[in-house]
Amino acid sequence: MSFKELGIQDAFTEILLQNGIGEPTPIQKETIPVILEGQDVVGQAQTGTGKTLAFVLPLLQKIDSERDEIQGLIVAPTRELAIQITAEVRKLTDTNSEINVLAVYGGQDVIAQMHKLQGKVHVVVGTPGRLLDHIRRETIDLSGVSTFVLDEADQMLHIGFLSDIEDIMAKVPASRQTLLFSATMPDEVKKLAETYTKNPRDIQVKTKQI
Ligand code: ADP
Ligand code: MG
Repeated sequence: MSFKELGIQDAFTEILLQNGIGEPTPIQKETIPVILEGQDVVGQAQTGTGKTLAFVLPLLQKIDSERDEIQGLIVAPTRELAIQITAEVRKLTDTNSEINVLAVYGGQDVIAQMHKLQGKVHVVVGTPGRLLDHIRRETIDLSGVSTFVLDEADQMLHIGFLSDIEDIMAKVPASRQTLLFSATMPDEVKKLAETYTKNPRDIQVKTKQI
């Protein structure tokens, strides 16, 4: 089974191969086709099983780079994770596409971020607090978001995060596709999934780390 057979375009599979990635992991095999179909997904697999590419690849494939709007929004619990996800997106888009990604997290200069948000940005990867900061300043427009990802959801259960996520969700169109990924599925995460996804496909994979 290859990424191509899952529906991933050559432009991306070539870059994956250059990075030594040819065979999709189980969570990637199960989720990528479902995400490409447009269904909401609640995906659970252990840390280190490749959950990032499972949502990044189909998300990128849905971006229309000619539309000057944020179309993909990925929310991650920590700055480190936001940086990692952004790096994976950049690796896939820097050389072969017009897709622009912007990381938005605390500690960065907020004015510089505001300027970058005024440019052509298709994908934003952010932490809840800073995203909300931009929402309150009205310096981010999320009305064009068609794919929303909540990554490492089990790390987002602090009370502050939950209310931030609620406020962010209120700015994202209800017609969006929502993807939630988590290493574990405690009741609080199930509740998050129930609140924000629509008839999701529940995909749970039990495998060892890569
Ligand atoms: P998770 O989010 O499930 O903890 P990551 O998405 O961070 O896992 O992936 C862990 C590591 O595995 C990363 O270094 C990533 O580049 C690598 N990886 C992802 N998919 C594959 C694959 N199909 N084959 C080989 N390595 C992969
Ligand atoms: Mg991850």
